[in-house]
Amino acid sequence: MILVGVAAAWAILPASAQQDATKLEVVATFSILGDFARNVGGDRVDVTTLVGPNGDVHVYTPTTADAEAIRKARLVIVNGLGLEGWLPRLVKSSGGNATTVVATHGIVPRKVAAGEILSRDRGVGSVDPHAWQSVANAEIYVANIRDGMVAVDPANAATYRANASAYLAKLETLDRDVREAVASLSIERRKVISTHDAFGYFAAAYDIRFVAPEGVSTETEPSARDIATIIAQIKKEKIPAVFLENISDPRLMRQIASETGAAIGGTLYSDSLTAKDGEAPGYIEMIRHNTRTIARALME
Ligand code: ZN
Repeated sequence: MILVGVAAAWAILPASAQQDATKLEVVATFSILGDFARNVGGDRVDVTTLVGPNGDVHVYTPTTADAEAIRKARLVIVNGLGLEGWLPRLVKSSGGNATTVVATHGIVPRKVAAGEILSRDRGVGSVDPHAWQSVANAEIYVANIRDGMVAVDPANAATYRANASAYLAKLETLDRDVREAVASLSIERRKVISTHDAFGYFAAAYDIRFVAPEGVSTETEPSARDIATIIAQIKKEKIPAVFLENISDPRLMRQIASETGAAIGGTLYSDSLTAKDGEAPGYIEMIRHNTRTIARALME
């Protein structure tokens, strides 16, 4: 009897409410794109993010559930700029017919320069894929995602446009707030040592230098000799703050702090958002957290 009642109630719902049952299936390759997609799509979309908070989007190994999500999707959102090298094979093998949106379309890519953090897939002159770290670029991502949703689901175009406008206004405010926070720091102090390879666009957009520690790889724990080299570099270049997240031994960090007087920065988020109760559950929170952390470390 209950089932019959539900069916009858469903039959008399207006057409607009019935559409709720068929949301636009969207796949985003990693959490930051997923957050943009949810903000633009709102309650019209069902977003699946492939790379979770602890995964590495650069070297991800897709699961069979990922292939299934791509097969069902009508829209797949990717970063591009060489970030998701594992994706084309996944899309091909999944056999779906989704439209792909390259979120960085129209962005001016920056190349990795000498003196930046290098790693296996990141040599001098290679394209830096971390374009979302500039908020102006994030606005281009959001516009591309909006246009992709409008193209595959024109019936809900007005909703996507309205949601995107509201979110873009928040990004404009965010960009202004980051500029204000950096403007309050003296120009000589706007440099940090970091093993992160993801802040090139942030550095260029907001005029903060991210200096690679000399002779340290991003993959291994630094040796005692590496620490001595870093300490000499901090003193020589008068660097006020360090963000060295591959040093897991807190005694080494305390040694650097006590011998140089540099501030030990804290956690910066680059390629992945945190869980809902973490410090960076959304893109806007991530940029605000990073800016606050950097500004606090560089304040006099
Ligand atoms: Zn990265």
